[in-house]
Amino acid sequence: MSRPQPPGLHLALSLAELGWHILPLTWAKKRPLANCDRCQRRHGMSPHGPATCPCIAAGRWCHGAHAATVDPNRLTAWWAAEPQAVPGVATGPSGLCLIDIDTGHEPLPESLATHLLPGIDLRAEGIPAAAWTNRAHFRDGRDSLSLLARLRGGSNPWPQGEEHCPVSAATPSGGRHLWYRTPASGLHQVIANTRGRRPYGLAWQVDVKAGWSYGVAPGAMTAAGLYRSLKGHPANVGTMPRWKAAEVVRVATQPPPEPAPHPGLAQRGPAASGGRTRAYIDSILADRIPQIARLRKGEGRPTALAALAYRIGGHLAATGIDDDIPQRLIDAGVTAGLTYRIAESTVNRSLANGRNRPMEIPTDRRMRQ
Ligand SMILES: [Zn+2]
Ligand SMILES: [Zn+2]
Repeated sequence: MSRPQPPGLHLALSLAELGWHILPLTWAKKRPLANCDRCQRRHGMSPHGPATCPCIAAGRWCHGAHAATVDPNRLTAWWAAEPQAVPGVATGPSGLCLIDIDTGHEPLPESLATHLLPGIDLRAEGIPAAAWTNRAHFRDGRDSLSLLARLRGGSNPWPQGEEHCPVSAATPSGGRHLWYRTPASGLHQVIANTRGRRPYGLAWQVDVKAGWSYGVAPGAMTAAGLYRSLKGHPANVGTMPRWKAAEVVRVATQPPPEPAPHPGLAQRGPAASGGRTRAYIDSILADRIPQIARLRKGEGRPTALAALAYRIGGHLAATGIDDDIPQRLIDAGVTAGLTYRIAESTVNRSLANGRNRPMEIPTDRRMRQ
């Protein structure tokens, strides 16, 4: 009679019992299961926010981390519908913060001094240059985090007491997940961007998942392999050492970087009309880039970025201006949490499409005719 419980459900229930808020992720890509039709984005806009979603109240999994729950009945129903789902943990609702250390996917930044630890200029710190100038020393996020520990951790950066022991897991790609109790409320996710002109994040190859973010549950199996539990216990999650808490709060409460200031066309070229167009483009970017950078997963980031790039592309075609605008758009996408590759391909494709339709603004129907 009794059928074996899906392994994902078993893990989900045991973590939920300890107060970890669980949402179901896809087996292959570890993304939240898709919203229902009523909650799908249309034209880049969600029909409603999670707070007014009828599905979440009715026990469905729409809106990702917003639907996460500790209710065993709800979890059992979800896994009955999707037995292969991977349990994910919603960070903020669980009172947790995940330090996500990657290995080897991102090339080392050109400028180690300014980009290894965003917001910190290593040349101005009182450590020997040998601690950070040797590129061979930095193989992955563990090395950049160690540098931050050396810089900010005082004489005992890694206190050994159980109260500081995170729940840690080895990821299938060789990275590390460190689950801590969140050092503060109101934090947001920070996906490190150390390729753009304005570096952002805790450290090269180190992301912070907090607030409405989520991570694969420690101990979960996915298509890519097992998130193997290493140390710590989910019933008793450690707190960050004080220096780490301070650094995480610093980056995870910071608004995304403002667009770079611009000298304007006056210093670049003579045409006054070009100057006005330049100012017009800058005003659009200054208005839209911070909005896009604040979008979260499921709020239409790629669509919003594509729409902006398309619109800007039309103006660039008409004026011949072409400098750092693509990079600024890519940076906005990365700050919003897109991968560099997706932000880059979205921007390049949409700019190119926009250039083919000079000056047309895609949302304005009158100009379509
Ligand atoms: Zn729904
Ligand atoms: Zn909804």
